[in-house]
Amino acid sequence: MATIKAECHTCGAVRLRVADLTVKICADDDRGAYRFRCPRCERAVLHDATSAICALLVSVGVEEEVWSLPAELREQHDGPAFTPDDMLDFHLLLDGGDWANRLAGVEDASA
Ligand SMILES: [Zn+2]
Repeated sequence: MATIKAECHTCGAVRLRVADLTVKICADDDRGAYRFRCPRCERAVLHDATSAICALLVSVGVEEEVWSLPAELREQHDGPAFTPDDMLDFHLLLDGGDWANRLAGVEDASA
């Protein structure tokens, strides 16, 4: 069985099986990385990797995951910035009860 030598940030060089690694490719910018859990310290390790390294790992059977950046990164925001005063108003709103209806603009009939 093939083993792959990788570097744990804490333990140094470790040997891994193909099933111990996962290649991660970002669909939006093609950045690559591989991750594994260190067999010695059990910490999760993530290393950036070139497309050539990712292709080599996949070619020997390492699982590949394709992921996308969160859609929120592409949102356009044109309103005013959230301020500490907004945070205080929000806190008071949540503390006052019936906040869900107040946010929705529905008056509390029992008030
Ligand atoms: Zn380690």
